[in-house]
Amino acid sequence: MKALFITSIGDPEKKTMGTIDMKEVPIPEPGPEEVRIKIAYASICGSDPHTLRGELGPMRPRILSRLPIRTGHEISGVIDAVGEVAAANGFKVGDRVTANYSKPCGTCYWCHTGREGLCKQAKASADGMAEYVSWHMSQVYKIPENVTLRQACMTEPMTIALNAVQTAQVSFGKKVAIFGGGGIGLMALQLARHAGASKIVVFELAESRQKMALDLGADAVLNPNDPNVSETIRKMTNGLGFDCIIDSSGASSAAQSTLDMLAPDGNVVFFAMYKPDFDLKVNLFSQMYLQQKHIHGMYTSSDCFPKTIEMLPLVNLDAIAEKEYSLDEYKAAFDDAVSGKYAKVIFRVAGE
Ligand SMILES: [Zn+2]
Ligand SMILES: [Zn+2]
Repeated sequence: MKALFITSIGDPEKKTMGTIDMKEVPIPEPGPEEVRIKIAYASICGSDPHTLRGELGPMRPRILSRLPIRTGHEISGVIDAVGEVAAANGFKVGDRVTANYSKPCGTCYWCHTGREGLCKQAKASADGMAEYVSWHMSQVYKIPENVTLRQACMTEPMTIALNAVQTAQVSFGKKVAIFGGGGIGLMALQLARHAGASKIVVFELAESRQKMALDLGADAVLNPNDPNVSETIRKMTNGLGFDCIIDSSGASSAAQSTLDMLAPDGNVVFFAMYKPDFDLKVNLFSQMYLQQKHIHGMYTSSDCFPKTIEMLPLVNLDAIAEKEYSLDEYKAAFDDAVSGKYAKVIFRVAGE
């Protein structure tokens, strides 16, 4: 079968780019607790361009030592072979599924206390840009009939958007700011509306994404470099600032500006891949002590899969998946993903 490999990664100092290649590998046989999924769609993650540029911070040496590596962790497909334990657990050939690339160990302190994102022994299945994968049954979720496989390949990034909206404590009447109108930002925008936000502002530089944010329900789109931006925010928020801020931009300047725009007792969430040497400046006396602002960090969101799947039909994902390629067109697909021109680039592998 065909599978994509990252064959080299770039050097952020020299601004070089890594390389992707397609190779022929054997179709994986499922173990007793695994199911084999014939991949329908696989989407390119916002983290993939970072990996290609080598912007991996402390993870860089480990990735370098393991090259070439398989890639792809946002998938959907149809089960075409089932291990015997997985069959006893209700999985069968023909099931339409999506999956969580992360398989927390289930036995450590963090797993036992419901914080699987912190599990150090979590296994990552990142071999999804291929024709088939065999993943553990605990990673696999059936999808409802009213969700297409094309939409379902974006479940994993939507768990991140949903977790960010939850962590920012979006609820009825809250004023919300979202930095970055990429795939996750545009999902968070729609989920924040469902969660009851009364006003949602998206900060975005690119015109095409500004338009999409408005089409998908943003009340306003602001250019963060506009000199009048603080006055506009003051007017929109009755001088208080935003109750909830979600930074899906990963830009250091955006991250730094969030604390000033945050209302007292507001919640800001950071989960993007920032520059590894970027330190956020916080004034502990005024921002933390007097204004009681809350800063949250977030990584994976394994516990959010069931509710994200429930929300899939309520979010316009077709608009977000702006570009679609076959697996053979991987070079063009990754060029587009790296360019940042499109909210989301996806591979149609076997299709619906
Ligand atoms: Zn991802
Ligand atoms: Zn664990």
